[in-house]
Amino acid sequence: MRRNDISGTDALAWMQALNYSRPAGTAAEKQAAEQIAASVRHAADQVTVEPFAWRHRENKESSEVLASQNVCAFLSGAERDTEYLVLSAHYDSVPEGPGAYDNLSSCAVMAELLRYFSLHRPKRALCFVWLGAEELGLLGSQAYVARHQKELRNCRFNLNSDLAGQEGGVDVLGVTAGEEAVDTLRAICRAHGLSCEFKRQVWSSDSNSFAMAGIPALTYDRDGYGMHTKEDTLDRISPAALEDAMLRIGTLAEELASRNPFPIPRTIPESFQEALQRYFQAKDRYELLTDEQRSDKFL
Ligand SMILES: [Zn+2]
Repeated sequence: MRRNDISGTDALAWMQALNYSRPAGTAAEKQAAEQIAASVRHAADQVTVEPFAWRHRENKESSEVLASQNVCAFLSGAERDTEYLVLSAHYDSVPEGPGAYDNLSSCAVMAELLRYFSLHRPKRALCFVWLGAEELGLLGSQAYVARHQKELRNCRFNLNSDLAGQEGGVDVLGVTAGEEAVDTLRAICRAHGLSCEFKRQVWSSDSNSFAMAGIPALTYDRDGYGMHTKEDTLDRISPAALEDAMLRIGTLAEELASRNPFPIPRTIPESFQEALQRYFQAKDRYELLTDEQRSDKFL
């Protein structure tokens, strides 16, 4: 993948249509999901919108049930259909602002990468997921992992992006996997002349839900300004910085989806498993409803 193959200008134009606050569980968030699904339908083999719902753990019976949805776009691989990678980004924002940097930028990166990979299919399949309700505690990715438990046995890696598209910051890859995973990813970036700072740690984004399910995962993030404030606006986003994110995530996806055998073992080190458990325990304010509970509420 080269810079000429992708367009930060198109990605920025894509963002214009979704440039409004999209808080989890609101009509605005739902509208954003519908717009995303419509915009990627032509490039993917299959697009599904998957609803999920939750309520506060305390005062269960009196607390309001809220709902969101994940948008999934599937691209089958050129060779091996059973193994796949998940590329993800949350599209909800906090109520305070339009969440351009956090995280509409990454959503645009994923839409543009989907377009690229629909024309340049790697061997393995790719599943792109735009996740809802991240800001309330990674609810969309937890719902996705619960719903797809069975297929996820064939998922080799999760490339998540959260905070992208501002000029000037450092590109960071936060990897929740073993040392050998970092070595492999670093070697790929080096070979393609892509600068990156690697951190091996539990992040605070949707990659955690995948790692918790035993899938090696990373979150891309570009240092920046204005997260969770009204100043997180589109005018701070630049096409070149969007391309920087696309090149890093896209190059890693392209290499990982093409190499045989898959170059990263499917294990999460024990210390990370414990850290992930602590992370989710501390975040556990909301309870996801099962499909059955949900249909009772929404019928
Ligand atoms: Zn975010």
